[in-house]
Amino acid sequence: MSNPAGRLTVKSDGTVSGPASISYNDPFPCVNGSWGSGAMQGVVMHTMVGNLPGTVTVFNDPSYQASSHFGIDQRGHIHQFGPIGKSWIAWAQMAGNLAWYSIEHADNGNPENPLTDAQITASAQLVEMLSAFAGFPLQVTDSVSGRGYGTHVMGGAAWGSHTCPGPGPRAGQRTAIVARARQIRTGPPPVTWQARALADAEQIEAGATSLAALLTTGDTQIRAQAIETEAAALVTLLKAHQ
Ligand SMILES: [Zn+2]
Repeated sequence: MSNPAGRLTVKSDGTVSGPASISYNDPFPCVNGSWGSGAMQGVVMHTMVGNLPGTVTVFNDPSYQASSHFGIDQRGHIHQFGPIGKSWIAWAQMAGNLAWYSIEHADNGNPENPLTDAQITASAQLVEMLSAFAGFPLQVTDSVSGRGYGTHVMGGAAWGSHTCPGPGPRAGQRTAIVARARQIRTGPPPVTWQARALADAEQIEAGATSLAALLTTGDTQIRAQAIETEAAALVTLLKAHQ
């Protein structure tokens, strides 16, 4: 089946754009963050223990001292908190802030809720984009010395002793996210000429059918019915040769 999700890209101002629903923090970047990151090893999965609007509120509160690069709600909407490629550091996992991007995922207050399909797609789009941008592989990692899609919990005490994104199925869903990210990178399979011809023939047949139904007088109706018959034969032929 074709995959509706496409690749995201980083614009010169560090914002991400492409075939997804994306909003940008105002101000951009958010106040919680600093500058000076270097080479990036990968990206860290987080879970909000809440929803995106509340996360946007606290990441814009200076007293909260926390942020992430991205947040994704249950419908797959992405909120970007700071720029990519500008050495901006999100405050998401302490000692892991310098070399890891971070994505927060909404969970309606319960990390046991699995990621929605739309969240998996949006997360895959971001991981694919970050991997292409920073040059780390599209793979799961559970080590702070590894590269790929990690978790907050893997960092232990140095990363704040969090269980995030657990307990629950979310950390395991990285496998599905990485698989989808690879599909997004490869792109949908090419449409064959046979498939295109069949779609066209079916459209002609449907058009002739409705035209014949509209026409009530002899010659034109007979002609429309003839086109319908010929198109139907073409559809049958093409279906046999897909
Ligand atoms: Zn976390």
